[in-house]
Amino acid sequence: MRTAVALLACLALLLSPAPAPAEGPQATYVLRVPAPKGESAQRLLGLGYDVLEQRDGDDLFVVGDPKTAGKLRTDGYPATVEKTMPPAPWAPRSIGDATYYGGYRTITAHLAHLDEVAKAHPGLATVVDYGDSWRKTQGNGGYDLKALCVTRKGPGDCALTPTAPKPRLFVMGQLHAREITTGDMAWRFIDDLVGSDLTAMLADVEVWVVPIANPDGVEIVESGGDSPVLQRKNANGTCTSGSRGVDLNRNAGSHWGEVGSSTSKCSETYRGPRADSEVEVQALESLWRKLYRDTRAPGDTAAASADTTGAVVSMHSYGDYVLFPWGWSTQKTGNDAALRKMANDMAALSGYTAGQPGEVLYNASGATDDWVYDDLGVPSFVWEIGTDSGRCGGFLPPFSCQEDAHWPKVRPMLVSAMKAAKRPY
Ligand SMILES: [Zn+2]
Repeated sequence: MRTAVALLACLALLLSPAPAPAEGPQATYVLRVPAPKGESAQRLLGLGYDVLEQRDGDDLFVVGDPKTAGKLRTDGYPATVEKTMPPAPWAPRSIGDATYYGGYRTITAHLAHLDEVAKAHPGLATVVDYGDSWRKTQGNGGYDLKALCVTRKGPGDCALTPTAPKPRLFVMGQLHAREITTGDMAWRFIDDLVGSDLTAMLADVEVWVVPIANPDGVEIVESGGDSPVLQRKNANGTCTSGSRGVDLNRNAGSHWGEVGSSTSKCSETYRGPRADSEVEVQALESLWRKLYRDTRAPGDTAAASADTTGAVVSMHSYGDYVLFPWGWSTQKTGNDAALRKMANDMAALSGYTAGQPGEVLYNASGATDDWVYDDLGVPSFVWEIGTDSGRCGGFLPPFSCQEDAHWPKVRPMLVSAMKAAKRPY
């Protein structure tokens, strides 16, 4: 018995994060936190921890520094260390580098890629500038917000009007900047749309790709070079301890300010001062209203009409999930059966788990995917790409994992979404 107690104490010591060095870079920890679905999970989110989009049974996962486990314990959540990421040597990328961290393309390279593809395939691809990032609106660097419309171009195609002739699939990456897998998936999708068997599908569907929905955030991520910065939010705001910015996936004007979002500026789920306060979110919503007809009456229970066309996919990582509305609650939408079937079809191709966020993960309000369905009736999905562990798991998989592990699962889901966009309900 005594031996067992000693062993447990020993284990506890091993599992406790090492004390922080007096100065210099600190390790980052992924902590496993018992937080069953429902009240316990929602309270954890409400406390402002950096909770990952990942669940294992009754456990959620929190990213933090050496002090985070102690804070969690004080708040009533006994955490254990799941993974330790040692501080990497500071290796900023050089100005002009087109890639970072072993091959991931920079925001500048992504924007150039859109122009190159449009120039090489004028009958297929059109670049659309749909707004400015926050830093650009401040005259302080920043970027244009850009989408690529890809289709076998005919009259009226790619026009910024909801009455355009073809059904539209909209796919975006890196709304959460540190989810670097998703921008790479968008890059590969664009290349395949103009250069593979997918091109033949473009006769009767229009595909819109926004590879980087949060370029200011991605600029912060890639500034770390071989040690990418884990920036999730945009760059608007200040924070003395923690991370600056607004969580663009808690800022949208659908049930904004409810569960799973924070009022604290330093929280990773900071919702912003008001619904739709952020220019990146405003620009997306404005673009979606130009691309899609509104086929759903207001309220939480109305169904979109049967003649609705199109679909919207927001790519995130990680956890191997296909999520669909509502995310603010486990209440079902008026189109639950159809949304659930589409999600199950996608998940069957990748081995992911399908469900509403609150069914498989936790409830969160103010997400763009809820907004798309709420405002327009268009089916919308979140893909949480990648596992939590293993060589290709987590936020920062080695670049080779994109080709070997993630793309073979995501590509069939994209094809499924292209087909489903024609008559989703
Ligand atoms: Zn995300």
